[in-house]
Amino acid sequence: MNLKTLIKKIESKYPLNLAYDWDNVGLLVGDFNMDVKKVLVVLEANEKVIDEAIENNIDLIITHHPFIFKKINKINTSDLKGRLIHRLIKNDIGLYSMHTNFDIAFDGLNDYFMELMGFENCKILDVTNNEVLYKLAVYVPTTHVEKVKASLAKSGAGHIGNYSHCSFSTEGIGNFKPLDGANPFIGNRNELEVVEEIKIETIVPQRVLGGVISAMINVHPYEEVAYDLYKLENKGGSVGLGRVSKLKESKKLKDLCEDIKVKLDMKHIRIVGDLDSKINKVAAVTGSGADMVKKAQRSGADVIITGDIKYHDAQDALDIGMNVVDCGHFDTEDVFKDAMKRFLDTIDEIDVMKSEIDLNPFIII
Ligand SMILES: [Zn+2]
Repeated sequence: MNLKTLIKKIESKYPLNLAYDWDNVGLLVGDFNMDVKKVLVVLEANEKVIDEAIENNIDLIITHHPFIFKKINKINTSDLKGRLIHRLIKNDIGLYSMHTNFDIAFDGLNDYFMELMGFENCKILDVTNNEVLYKLAVYVPTTHVEKVKASLAKSGAGHIGNYSHCSFSTEGIGNFKPLDGANPFIGNRNELEVVEEIKIETIVPQRVLGGVISAMINVHPYEEVAYDLYKLENKGGSVGLGRVSKLKESKKLKDLCEDIKVKLDMKHIRIVGDLDSKINKVAAVTGSGADMVKKAQRSGADVIITGDIKYHDAQDALDIGMNVVDCGHFDTEDVFKDAMKRFLDTIDEIDVMKSEIDLNPFIII
């Protein structure tokens, strides 16, 4: 599969514009026109991961942490990052990173983590974006109405809440005169044509707008498709960082932590708070979530599960009476491999491999 096509599929679900401004996501090394057969998914890329990619004939590495983050002034083999970039290019391996856009997006890392923990009906902890919506109106001859409606629905238009295929149709008369050089589906050059048409109106979220318009043009019979696009004041669905979930049955913090250890396959986790306290509602932020402790408490959560809690973060949490479970940055995010593989496995024509390199920098004895 062409890399550009693969990226289009990835970004239609995990758009780059969801990422924070400070982040660096997308294709960081590589040629958009390259052919991709084999993909390696991994939390981040280092020398060993690149060795693994070369040994396994990988065409594209997909990382969670941005492979290039700090400013680079030169790419040569005298420094580590330069050497890694040089090796990737020399071996025709592309590198794509999806970081905060994957944390924030629906069905991204935070949702995957909650699913893994068995937490259901999740809400967003910190809303970062509201989706921009468009109204699309297209004029279609009566013979092609169902075909155009079906393609609009299939490409992601017409979703309102729990309803799909939403549209409104009005009958009318289309007028046009094909000019010299035109190749009209109906009518003749230089003759005024009057045709019974249906105006189909539907709603389209910005993230699928390009795909919806090209799918509509593909099935529409006219050489020049007449359509109008209006940006709406209506707000679309929200996306954001972290998730909150109400437990079906409350449990003691200690028991919740034992479950987490089993699910993340960890021998030890660090806990701040009262092990006997009752937990009804949980919040989670994968990676570093120390700055979300207060927000989690305001959301009504009795505990936040995250990583990277420092001594003073723990003291502050104790002061406000909030429980915190620190599973570590690595262990809350290494599941990126599973989350991303599950998504990529839905795409034909590519083979997806999870990295086997152990990237946890800490040893616990
Ligand atoms: Zn991280």
